[in-house]
Amino acid sequence: MPDHDTPVAVITGASSGIGAATARALVAHGYRVVLLGRRVERLQQLADELGPSAVAIAADVTDRDALVAAADHVRRDLGRVDVLVNNAGVMLLGPFGTEQRQEARRMVEVNLLGAMTATEVFLPQLHDGGGDLVNISSVAGRTARAGNAAYAATKWGMNGWSEALRQELQPDIRVTVIEPGAVATELTDHITDPDVKQNTEQFYAQLAITADDVADVIAFAVTRPRRLTLNEILLRPTAQPG
Ligand code: NDP
Repeated sequence: MPDHDTPVAVITGASSGIGAATARALVAHGYRVVLLGRRVERLQQLADELGPSAVAIAADVTDRDALVAAADHVRRDLGRVDVLVNNAGVMLLGPFGTEQRQEARRMVEVNLLGAMTATEVFLPQLHDGGGDLVNISSVAGRTARAGNAAYAATKWGMNGWSEALRQELQPDIRVTVIEPGAVATELTDHITDPDVKQNTEQFYAQLAITADDVADVIAFAVTRPRRLTLNEILLRPTAQPG
């Protein structure tokens, strides 16, 4: 039977990094968490660690049918959604051009369209009882630079979309945009340009904050009194210049 008192958070891209850390932080704050992602074994490991407060569901955010099935599962078994964290993302940095065209498209499909699809699919359940929409953007949503054009486009897009949604959904749903700087996760593992990958990894090794640092901020934001919304939170490692 669904437990109607305990808040439920749905987190996309919960199999590693900021998503996994957010799941741990929200469980510590008394939430049940729904872990979405493609790597089922990783999701299941995390669900096992978190115990009965967590459920793992395989869902690629570029596959609307999978998200609809996940939303049906959540409605049936948990009965509510209080928080949706649009966290799934890829950062395939590199020079803009024909060689990178598939990576550019993938970033748009996962980072921006994936967040839009997850939101559209879960929105009726968020509307049921108010709720929080947390969109994981980036410093790259405010600072464009050579080499991050397509990634920055996805995050600038997310910021504009989020601000419009904030106005559209208030006061029932609070919209919070989180804009982290460098965070030590698996994000840089997937960069295919060897020079860009090496430079990015060196930069991260010098100063990156932890996924737990970001998760603490997300947990803080969603646990504020309903009268207050933290609309946009920019957080960088103290030593990060831009
Ligand atoms: P990770 O690579 O550790 O996590 C990314 C997550 O996204 C994984 O859980 C992955 O799960 C999921 N994901 C990727 N593609 C898909 C997909 N098609 N469908 C569903 N899930 C998907 O990196 P981070 O934790 O760092 O990244 C999380 C978010 O934080 C991203 O949006 C990123 O842009 C943002 N961010 C990260 C920063 C950093 O420096 N690390 C800085 C600023 C923002 P799976 O592979 O199992 O599907």
